[in-house]
Amino acid sequence: MNCSQCRNKAVTYIRYSGQHLCKEHFIDFFESRVFKEFRKQVDLSKVSRIGVAVSGGKDSIVALRMIHKIVGERRDCDIFGITIDEGIEDYRASSLEIAIEEYERLGVDYEIRSFEESFGQPLDEMVDEIDVQKPCSVCGVLRRWLMNKMAKDAGADVLATGLNLDDTSQSLLMNFCRGDMEKMARLGPHEIVKEGLVPRIAPLRRTPENEAYLYALVNGMEIHQHECPYAVFALRGLYRDVLGQLEDNTPGTKFAVLSSYEKIKDELLEKYGGGDLEECSVCGEPTIEGKCKTCEMLDELNLEISE
Ligand code: SF4
Ligand SMILES: [Zn+2]
Ligand SMILES: [Zn+2]
Repeated sequence: MNCSQCRNKAVTYIRYSGQHLCKEHFIDFFESRVFKEFRKQVDLSKVSRIGVAVSGGKDSIVALRMIHKIVGERRDCDIFGITIDEGIEDYRASSLEIAIEEYERLGVDYEIRSFEESFGQPLDEMVDEIDVQKPCSVCGVLRRWLMNKMAKDAGADVLATGLNLDDTSQSLLMNFCRGDMEKMARLGPHEIVKEGLVPRIAPLRRTPENEAYLYALVNGMEIHQHECPYAVFALRGLYRDVLGQLEDNTPGTKFAVLSSYEKIKDELLEKYGGGDLEECSVCGEPTIEGKCKTCEMLDELNLEISE
């Protein structure tokens, strides 16, 4: 099949828009959507350092590449890589290597911190202590805390993640099904800056996961493709399957979930997202009230933050 825009051989068919695209036109299509989304989320006249959370997986590596393409040549804005080693045997070490290679290839400064040095134990040991259904909730809470801390310590004005359209639509549907409107209102990208919280941005939020994969592939990028051994315990997998089936049946469903959310986001923010944050009574990091979730979780595990 030939490309819908030239006579070259197509490398993909974009079902939701009915286009066949060759390598060059796919790259153009992909990059222009990410660049547009980035510019919508970030005002470069107000930002001098962009923190990028990089795990070594395809989405974070592609996000880093895209941001580097946009600001890499600028003198008034730099990129700082933030990488977390949760301590997951046979999984994380190989992705860290890929993250480091990419930082070095692009000449981006970076920092790696581990759960073990920040909280006293790697995730694998924490998981031994807790209900096995919950590794991702522990991992997610601690990682968000550490990412924000690292971004603040690095002086980043915003923190970019590699969250793609699939992740975003799954999170929206999960929060909706749980009735958790507060969490829904707090999802990034963050337009309102809250004291102590580095606003998160997600330049790939309109990029379907399979397109991020294809982009990495056609550009010969080295990416980490293993799945975390704890992912099987995550409820997210069910939402991934359901959305996958809906998308197969009605191409464009994932975009529709995101655009429905965008239509009500202002109302959600007004009702649930307002108010300043307090400082956690234990660690001083921002929290809605009292003790933050990280400190509560560390209490359960008999651990504490090591400075
Ligand atoms: S799948 Fe769960 S445990 Fe594994 S890295 Fe992701 S959040 Fe952490
Ligand atoms: Zn073409
Ligand atoms: Zn705390």
